[in-house]
Amino acid sequence: MEDKFGRKITYLRLSVTDLCNLRCRYCMPEEGICKKAHEEMLTEDEIVRAVHAAARLGVTKLRITGGEPLIKKNIVSICERCAAVEGIKEVCITTNGILLPELAAKLHDTGVKRLNISLDTLDTEKYAYITRGGELSRAMKGIETALCAGFDRIKINSVLIGGFNDGEIADLAALTRKYPIDLRFIELMPMTEQEEFGAGAYLPGEAVLKALPELRPEPADGGVAKLYSLPGARGKIGLINPVSSHFCAACNRIRLTADGKLKPCLHSSQEFSIKGLDEEGMMERMEQAILAKPACHAPLSSDSRSEAGRNMNAIGG
Ligand code: SAM
Ligand code: SF4
Repeated sequence: MEDKFGRKITYLRLSVTDLCNLRCRYCMPEEGICKKAHEEMLTEDEIVRAVHAAARLGVTKLRITGGEPLIKKNIVSICERCAAVEGIKEVCITTNGILLPELAAKLHDTGVKRLNISLDTLDTEKYAYITRGGELSRAMKGIETALCAGFDRIKINSVLIGGFNDGEIADLAALTRKYPIDLRFIELMPMTEQEEFGAGAYLPGEAVLKALPELRPEPADGGVAKLYSLPGARGKIGLINPVSSHFCAACNRIRLTADGKLKPCLHSSQEFSIKGLDEEGMMERMEQAILAKPACHAPLSSDSRSEAGRNMNAIGG
């Protein structure tokens, strides 16, 4: 279905939980979050029903995210059922990778073809700092297990943070030489939970081009990233610049939170609830949400925070 501005909505980002086994400083509070009542969250059947409704409206691509989707006990069944929905051509997962050693093969068997794994640093202490206690070795083992499991494509997501990992741009980029993976540098977005990041933390994607003058431009692949590659690399490097150069005009996505709220725009507080509805009711609400998509969100900067009204873990990044 098209929105009011002629953008065809083909991509649903589906959050299956707002809980997580890490506590990244730019994403969620140290103490975690107040666990919502079970009845407030979408059930597995409701999640699958929402995917059917979305597919009937023309959604073909699904990204399962969170919070950390792999901590959800029924994640394998959710993936299997979502991948089987008529019209859904591609199911991807975004994960911190910690549970991939146990789950990568099972997820691959469900029909999930692509994984995005988040990794902001290659330094053990810095990883523990930014994730508030995570173990880098476990994330790396997750990446290596996923590489053996046969996924079509694996991408590493690195959030660029001035004063934290700007000295590691070359080392992170070198992962595309070591492994057959793509790496995407994502600009830090000023969400609710990150008072500790000052203006200097918000680096433009251009910092990557300055740090890596040898990068060669690559043709676009239809996604929002500007693509490059290092000479001799096995994967591409993408720059995702939601702050310095937003991509609203090309936005083809809609989001569904784990508590059943459709968000027409990541950076708007407008939400449409589908909790408890049948498939027709969900479709109707989705149509309303798609028609409510704004042309563009307000500019983002360290002084001008997102109007999302939720932290990333509660939206589904
Ligand atoms: N737990 C999974 C993970 O970390 O990959 C999935 C959920 S997480 C919210 C999805 C992505 O959002 C991660 O790549 C994370 O780095 C990114 N993210 C979270 N907060 C962000 C922020 N303030 N700015 C930019 N990216 C952010
Ligand atoms: Fe958890 Fe992902 Fe948020 Fe980190 S970015 S706290 S791993 S949901």
